[in-house]
Amino acid sequence: MVTETTLGAEGAAALAEGGRLPLPWLAGPLHQALTQGRSHALLLQGPAGVGQFDLALLLAQAWLCEGRASSDQPGCGRCASCHLLRARSHPDFQVLLPEALREPLGFGAMEAEGEGASTKAGKAKPSREIKIDAVRQMLSFAQVSAARGKAKVVLVYPAEALNTVAANALLKTLEEPAGLLRFVLASAAPQQLLPTIRSRCQPLQMALPAREAALAWLTAQGVDQAGVLLDATGGRPQEALLWSEEGIAAKTWLELPRRVARGEAVALTDWPVPRAIASLQRLVHDLMRIAHGAAPAYFPRDALPKLPAVRAALDQWARTLQQAARHADHPLNAGLLMESLVAQGQQAMRPAR
Ligand SMILES: [Zn+2]
Repeated sequence: MVTETTLGAEGAAALAEGGRLPLPWLAGPLHQALTQGRSHALLLQGPAGVGQFDLALLLAQAWLCEGRASSDQPGCGRCASCHLLRARSHPDFQVLLPEALREPLGFGAMEAEGEGASTKAGKAKPSREIKIDAVRQMLSFAQVSAARGKAKVVLVYPAEALNTVAANALLKTLEEPAGLLRFVLASAAPQQLLPTIRSRCQPLQMALPAREAALAWLTAQGVDQAGVLLDATGGRPQEALLWSEEGIAAKTWLELPRRVARGEAVALTDWPVPRAIASLQRLVHDLMRIAHGAAPAYFPRDALPKLPAVRAALDQWARTLQQAARHADHPLNAGLLMESLVAQGQQAMRPAR
């Protein structure tokens, strides 16, 4: 399943420019992928919101670049190939993206009939799946020889969005790509991929970026009190930036626990439901950590109210939240759901007497 995080956290990615990377913490992973990537199919895996798509695109840029000094260097940003990729019109490059991600990531809507034509009625929501039509287009791309003779690259993101039919259609080419064809797949949920897809790829693990690098980047993007939002999002700088751009300031986050303790569901009703539920789960997670004598992870300690008297109520709230999270993408009535989750939280956070 494609979560709110994977769909929202990655903006239109930029390319390397004269050795400088758009997301500085990707320098290590990019170097690692360029020097250790032996397979013609790489699978980048790790948490969402830390630049998976960006890294995949940087790899494609490096493989296609005609101006770099050596094979462990990022793309130069100046050659014809880099320019074509920046314009999203490189003849030797194809992306497999869900329809819902094409525009946000800077690729035009796909012109396709049949299963892939998601806007047939003009009203249908763009698909969150990568469908067979997209794979078929890619297969014809795989047949022709490279236009510029350097490499051909197919980027699949997020790979878990491949539906079963599409994934099966991809298998043979993934195993034995013709000529100069290389694949880079990226996934925040590799356990959801078909084992047959996973087994044909060399995995490369991505980690959360170092805190200092993430903070410096967020601050450079104009995020105030970047540390608060970085903690709130579990150390994922792209997600933190997205929150900030969508109006969630550090202050909003710091006030959240006390507002929930007062039963103010309105604190969350403007948020996308999956994000609201995840935030309540982070709150209960932190309250439980404190109950066990550990430091909170997502909120500063002084933003959290005093420990509740009855921990069983916290456990119960955590279970309710976990259940709600499973259906977060399709709540029957988001407003009512939030009111009931917050009411239960208020109960669970009732202070000790
Ligand atoms: Zn170049």
